[in-house]
Amino acid sequence: MPFYDFKCRRCDTVFNVQATIEEKEKNLIPCPGCGGRVLERVYTKANISLVSRKAYMTEPSPACKCCKRDCPNAQG
Ligand SMILES: [Zn+2]
Repeated sequence: MPFYDFKCRRCDTVFNVQATIEEKEKNLIPCPGCGGRVLERVYTKANISLVSRKAYMTEPSPACKCCKRDCPNAQG
């Protein structure tokens, strides 16, 4: 079973839980802090890579004419 990171919207407890996809989809996972099931999915590990990737993507200036394949300004 995969692990998921959740944040409880009632008490803001962030926790990691191993659950089936069905349990996740049907909100069957209770908050360990208050027992509530209104949870917000958080991406603890993914956020780190997204931040670093975004920093990399915004590195070239808007006037970039490098035309490299990975350049965000090279589309079209
Ligand atoms: Zn809670």
